[in-house]
Amino acid sequence: MIPGPIEYESQVLNTMSLPTISHSSKEFISIYREALQNLMTIFGSSSTEGTPFIISGSGTLGMEASTVNFIKRNSKVLVVNTGYFGDRFVDLFSRFTDRIDQVKPSLGMQADPKLIEEKLETNEYDLMTVTHVDTSTGVRNDVKKIAEITKKRDTLLVVDAVCSAGGEKLDMKWGIDVAFSASQKALGAPPGLTVGVVGSRAASIMEKVPPMSFYSDLRKWAAVSKAMLDSRLGYFGTPNVNLISALAQSLRNIVSEGLNSRITRHEIMSTAIRGGITELGLEMIPKASFANTISAIYLPKNVRQKEFLADAETNGAVFASGLIKEISERYFRIGHMGSIGSSEVVIAISAIERSLKKNGYDIELGKGIKAAQEILFGREIGS
Ligand code: PMP
Repeated sequence: MIPGPIEYESQVLNTMSLPTISHSSKEFISIYREALQNLMTIFGSSSTEGTPFIISGSGTLGMEASTVNFIKRNSKVLVVNTGYFGDRFVDLFSRFTDRIDQVKPSLGMQADPKLIEEKLETNEYDLMTVTHVDTSTGVRNDVKKIAEITKKRDTLLVVDAVCSAGGEKLDMKWGIDVAFSASQKALGAPPGLTVGVVGSRAASIMEKVPPMSFYSDLRKWAAVSKAMLDSRLGYFGTPNVNLISALAQSLRNIVSEGLNSRITRHEIMSTAIRGGITELGLEMIPKASFANTISAIYLPKNVRQKEFLADAETNGAVFASGLIKEISERYFRIGHMGSIGSSEVVIAISAIERSLKKNGYDIELGKGIKAAQEILFGREIGS
């Protein structure tokens, strides 16, 4: 239960092992097309409002492709920074410009839309990035409210949905200009693909400005998508046939579960895990705006992370260590994304309880599980 790569459905993994068919075959074009259409559904876009893309490469490539196409050298940009992946945007932009501003709330807080509005009132930014859920902190930003502010202005809104798409409400129609994600988290396929949607406002800018990157040129990838959506071969770089087939299978599963039901299932899992954890006396890193997809939790003072994580693994659950440098050894992270449900929630809390107790934190075993059970009761989320 790390926050990606997650555990994949066997149907998705089996698809990976099918023969690698020709990327120009009718069969593959149809798989690609279906994946693009389902991506648009998951991102709340339609063919008239947005162009989806699938590119071989991890989420970091998505960060680059979704931004470099819309900035020039020395563009002015704003980074809404709620953790490690906000810092990564600053790092990325620093290769192109010195004019980088940040809205950086204190640890655990979501960005205040009012502060963003103030920044936009007094500055002209070409582009602004928001990490929907920062995987280092589990803090969820209110993208809907933020989009209400940017859509009235000339600043493009780019949303990093790597840790949210498929598990959180996300809708291009809120006024998002570009949103991107990666295959390995709530989208349910092994790592190696970045995906996203370019809205019409961003697309019109992209046509005019030649990007400062070749492989990340979204005009090339948009042309591939347009051809594929039209059931014709589109080519820029040879697609990862097996991985895209697996992604297509996972997206099919997501859409057939129903996006809203899936998001609700993620929300219930998150609430149940949080209920169990807080009942044990542990503190969450987010102060209020908790993600559906991941929980970041402080360890009790005397519990050492290394031993705790090793014991949790022995007890049946693999969790991740911290990512925020200053406190990386003081907290741990649980990913709760994909096809998992109540069984995994209970297994996770029980592993936490036993590992905490073994590491000297005096708790009554079963207390956290009971709290989680009370939340899960009557809310059928399967497994
Ligand atoms: N953004 C967020 C919010 C992420 O969680 C991650 C990866 N954990 C990335 C960007 C970068 O993705 P990748 O590791 O696939 O390059």
